[in-house]
Amino acid sequence: MMGRVTLVGAGPGDPGLLTQKGKKAIETAQVVVYDRLVSPEILALIPPTAKAIDVGKQANRHPVPQEEINQILLREALGGANVVRLKGGDPFLFGRGGEELELLAQHHVPFQVVPGVTSALAVPAYGGIPVTHRDCCSSLHIVTGHQRAGKELDIDFAALVATKGTLVFLMGVAALPQICEGLLNAGMDPHTPAAIVERGTTPAQRRVSATLATLAQAAQEHQVVSPAISIVGGVCALADQFDWFDALPLKGRTFVVTRPAARQGTLAQGLRELGANVWEFPCIHTTPISPCEALTAALEGLGNYQWVAFTSPVGVQVFFDALNAQGRDSRALGGVKLAAIGPGTAAALRKYGLTADYVPEVYNAQALGQGIPATGKVLLPRAAEGSPLLSQALTERGIPYEDVAIYTTQYHNPRSPQLRQALENGDLSYVTFTSASTVKGFVASVGADAPLGNITGLCIGHQTAQEAQRYGIPVRIAQEATISGLLRLAQTL
Ligand code: SAH
Repeated sequence: MMGRVTLVGAGPGDPGLLTQKGKKAIETAQVVVYDRLVSPEILALIPPTAKAIDVGKQANRHPVPQEEINQILLREALGGANVVRLKGGDPFLFGRGGEELELLAQHHVPFQVVPGVTSALAVPAYGGIPVTHRDCCSSLHIVTGHQRAGKELDIDFAALVATKGTLVFLMGVAALPQICEGLLNAGMDPHTPAAIVERGTTPAQRRVSATLATLAQAAQEHQVVSPAISIVGGVCALADQFDWFDALPLKGRTFVVTRPAARQGTLAQGLRELGANVWEFPCIHTTPISPCEALTAALEGLGNYQWVAFTSPVGVQVFFDALNAQGRDSRALGGVKLAAIGPGTAAALRKYGLTADYVPEVYNAQALGQGIPATGKVLLPRAAEGSPLLSQALTERGIPYEDVAIYTTQYHNPRSPQLRQALENGDLSYVTFTSASTVKGFVASVGADAPLGNITGLCIGHQTAQEAQRYGIPVRIAQEATISGLLRLAQTL
């Protein structure tokens, strides 16, 4: 059977600028052929079962020639695969998307195109430059500054200058001096505002503002490298006023997020929205204990418990998976009361249509044990490594309980030389810890002899902070033990 090819624009860098249609195409692909400028967060959407082919081109180095890329697409589609061709920005804007379709069309391979947010528009926008403004211009011109080896730039400078429009140059870092000179020679005012924006829409974005006469030199002084976009026109004067992205509170800071991969979403995303550079490094991962006789027995005797107390969203999920596996559902909990350690766990219960009867004021194991208004037996379905403070508090109050280990927490990255190197170089300022086990996992990954004093641990609560302090990690503690609490803490740094 014949496959098909979907040409997808991945946007300019910020993973949030991938279109919904593009995301869906990637998630359902069997083969993904991708370029250098596609961000890691978007590559992470490629299903683990799909074949991912890197044809990324480095400047001046062409590991996979265009002709071969065309052949790869053809071969995979003829082999019956649902192929996604993932390209930076928009596939048709200086993306050679058209060339790739020609061969497919000749062979009657069905194809579709999902346009992307082009860097030509998004990068100026993130640099605070509205590409048109009624007071400045009435047109916009997007030009390639790519110079073929040994050839002159093929740009009609006089025509460009005559438009009086905003000029946007892609692929123009190497040829920037010739571009500026060309415009000057064609009579453009040397005082025309200009800017170059490097790695736009990413946490590493840098903007250098200048005038047409000084831009090339300014770019050289700041060692601007590809990918970068140059903008020439009166609108560039607005950049300082509209510079919203560089002004984000966490811009330029690097955070390591150590939560398990499946749960990183909100924290990593929230930090990115604040402008942070986020290094997702899951240090632990959880595995349900299966079969789990103790849980099976507890579920069969649910009526014996007055309360079930949950200490994590994972715990909720494993518990209900086991209940469902018995052919039962939330109704089995009937008159049993439910406690959740914090809002995240309470939210996990709500997914099953259940409201927690009790959430402690402070979201930790000790507070849960001290505050749960139980008189009868409490079931604690939780991690094998769960905090003893919970059971101790119950014991002290004379409340009977059954502690059932339903999942285990493993350290995931036995050793990470990259992480350790970054820590030694002082490149990691902040590491977020959402549980004591993430602290243990992180320390195991970098080694206990690493200079852990170099970082600040942003801890969700006091128990997590105590664990970090045991290793000599300076800590800051969220006022509220939730992901939102951690995000608020990050904004005070
Ligand atoms: N199809 C792409 C452009 C491909 S040409 C698009 O629509 O965006 C590659 C050029 O795009 C780079 O040389 C650079 O000029 C520009 N570019 C792409 N991503 C960029 C980014 N994040 N920041 C600055 N320029 C970028």
